[in-house]
Amino acid sequence: MEDCVFCKIVKGEIPSDKVYEDKEVLVFRDINPQAPVHFLLIPKKHMNSVADMTEDDLSLMGHMINTANRMAVAAGIAGKGFRLVTNVGTEGGQGVLHLHWHILGGRQLSGELG
Ligand code: AMP
Ligand code: ZN
Repeated sequence: MEDCVFCKIVKGEIPSDKVYEDKEVLVFRDINPQAPVHFLLIPKKHMNSVADMTEDDLSLMGHMINTANRMAVAAGIAGKGFRLVTNVGTEGGQGVLHLHWHILGGRQLSGELG
């Protein structure tokens, strides 16, 4: 999508602190981290949110959750626990309309986003 900030990150038009990349997904550090580890995991293809997913996206979604888990292990937060969250739409608190999972950890989380 033309004006989507995360599509621009995928295309390299906006810099990001990349953690992992493959054919389908990209993981980078959140610019405004809410925890010692705060990664964003996105599909390279634009989707507004998980509300846009169809049956065709089942394997992509599985790959994203598996990747999130692997990122948590690699970052050393899997043992004590971490949070994987995706906001959907206005009342869900979604600011950037390109599907993303927050991977948060490295401190005790509580409340909404902790
Ligand atoms: P959400 O409120 O769930 O849509 O989360 C959007 C997240 O994207 C926020 O945590 C922002 O800090 C983060 N963010 C926005 N722009 C960038 C960027 N250019 N690079 C990294 N993270 C970003
Ligand atoms: Zn996008």
